[in-house]
Amino acid sequence: MRKLLEGLSLFQRVAYPRHRKLFERLAKNQTPQAVFISCSDSRVVTNLLVQAEPGDLFIIRNAGNIIPPAGSSYGGTTASLEYAIVALGIRDVILCGHSNCGAMKGVLHPETLDGMPAVRQWVSYADAARRAAVAAHPGASDDEMLERVVDFNVIAQVRNMMTFPFVSRLVEKGELQLHGWVYDIATGRVKGLDASGRRFVPLGGDEKGSPDERNALASVEGDEEFWERL
Ligand SMILES: [Zn+2]
Repeated sequence: MRKLLEGLSLFQRVAYPRHRKLFERLAKNQTPQAVFISCSDSRVVTNLLVQAEPGDLFIIRNAGNIIPPAGSSYGGTTASLEYAIVALGIRDVILCGHSNCGAMKGVLHPETLDGMPAVRQWVSYADAARRAAVAAHPGASDDEMLERVVDFNVIAQVRNMMTFPFVSRLVEKGELQLHGWVYDIATGRVKGLDASGRRFVPLGGDEKGSPDERNALASVEGDEEFWERL
C-alpha cells in the first residue's frame, strides 16, 4: 500500500499540475468517446492500451467482461451500460477480453470455484462460450481451449448486449457501434471482431496477426446452427 500512497502524492505534486487545464474542464462534465468494458484483471490497463486521456473512456469492469443478458440480473454492469448509452449518449462500446483470463478458467473448470458462490454464479453467464469452444474445437489442449473460450466469450457478451432494447434499437438504426476485442497480454496484440461478428482480425498496427488466431473460428464460420446456439 505504501507504494500506492507515494504514487498518490506524486500525482498531486507532478501529474495533476501538468494536466491542470484538462482536469479543470473535466470537473464540469464528461463527454467520453467510448464505453470500454473489460475484465477486472490488473494486467488489463484500459487507458494505457488505447493511449486514452482522462475523460476519454467510460469504463465498466467486472470478472470476465461479462454482460448478463436482459432480464437476468440488473446489477452494476447493466446500470453502468444503460447510463453510458442513454444519459451520456456514448455511441461506441468496446468489449475487450484478454489472454490468460482467470474468470474464463473458472468457466472451463467450475469445480475450482468451490467456496466462491458469487463467482460461480457470475461466470455462469459465460457458459455459452464454453459450450461453443468445446463444440468448435473438440480435443483442444487446455491452453488452446482457454484462448477459444476467451474469444467466444467476447462474441457471446456482445450478443448479450444486443438483448437490451436501449442497445439494439440504436445498433439497428446505425447509431451505436459494438466492438468485440481480445487483448493478448504477452505480445500487446489486439484483435477485433469484423462486421460478420464471427471472425477476428488484427487491430492497430498489427497487420498480420498469427495464423492460429486468423483460423481459430474458421471451422464454424458458416455453421448457422452453431451460431444460433451461441
Ligand atoms: Zn480476466
